[in-house]
Amino acid sequence: MNIPVTNALHETANGSAKILDGALAAQAVIHELSEKIAKYVNSGKRKPALTVVLVGDNPASEVYVKNKILTCKEIGIESQLRRYDKNASKEEILAGLHELNRDATIDGILVQLPLPAHLPTGEILDSIAPDKDVDGLHPYNLGLLFAGVPGLQPCTPKGIIALLHFYHIPIKGKNVVVIGRSNLVGKPVAGLLLQQDATVTICHSRTENLSAICRQADILVVAAGKQEMVGKDWVKPGACVVDVGIHRLKDNSNEGQSKSKAKIVGDVLFDEVKPIAGYITPVPGGVGKMTVAMLMVNTIFAYEQHIAM
Ligand code: NAD
Repeated sequence: MNIPVTNALHETANGSAKILDGALAAQAVIHELSEKIAKYVNSGKRKPALTVVLVGDNPASEVYVKNKILTCKEIGIESQLRRYDKNASKEEILAGLHELNRDATIDGILVQLPLPAHLPTGEILDSIAPDKDVDGLHPYNLGLLFAGVPGLQPCTPKGIIALLHFYHIPIKGKNVVVIGRSNLVGKPVAGLLLQQDATVTICHSRTENLSAICRQADILVVAAGKQEMVGKDWVKPGACVVDVGIHRLKDNSNEGQSKSKAKIVGDVLFDEVKPIAGYITPVPGGVGKMTVAMLMVNTIFAYEQHIAM
């Protein structure tokens, strides 16, 4: 599908960085998808279907899965949650995935990460049929991405590109620095940015002179998984800063023990960077919202391949 664009840019109160609002962009995507699904269903086609596999009881995963299932409901995708005990064996999970692979009524399969430590994440992700791999993490789909062939692409990287497009942030020819080289975020987002004709530098935990490299970036994508690592000295004035990190902090201040709640921050010191950046994504309400929206886009992509068969 064509990802929507907007003319609305959210200025912060003091006129500093403009906020790239992931919730707004995601809602535009969701709206288009709802209409698309309604057209298919009204023409007599079955509904798209997604199965989410959750192993264990990681509280953050529970929140992510709940959001995914609710979004499916909102736009007309059938969804089911398959839960496994935290001690479930590899064999048990692989048998379940093979069954879902063979089920012609299921378009997408998503295994919520992280898996408990005793399970081999790579082997489990690789056992999902590539045409149902809506997280885009199967080596076949990652291969398509790097070959520049359309396919199922990882949701967070795809969401970052969609958010930049939504706000008309120029990418072509720009100097982009990505912090992080994971298969989930860093490597695929670098590949997608390269396809958009950016000049891309990938940094990681062994990179020397990291802050100096980041200061060269027109667009800085931070996916290091290190809480509030990037401060104002890392950012070129006017740069676009995309914060992928998610860290849940226990915040008991002023709340009393019983009312304690989790505060969420990113990999970027938002209040420090905001005054000098040109654009910045908030956490929460930035990249995370786009990740869920792209899962829906991928599920519809898989559905369209399946109903065309
Ligand atoms: P990961 O731990 O697999 O990879 C982190 C990468 O950052 C590694 O390649 C590592 O080399 C690099 N790194 C670590 N410390 C560094 C340092 N001090 N300096 C430079 N590089 C460093 O993490 P991931 O799965 O890629 O996720 C990264 C972050 O993004 C996490 O906070 C995660 O929770 C978040 N995340 C958010 C979304 C979303 O939807 N917003 C989706 C996926 C991941």
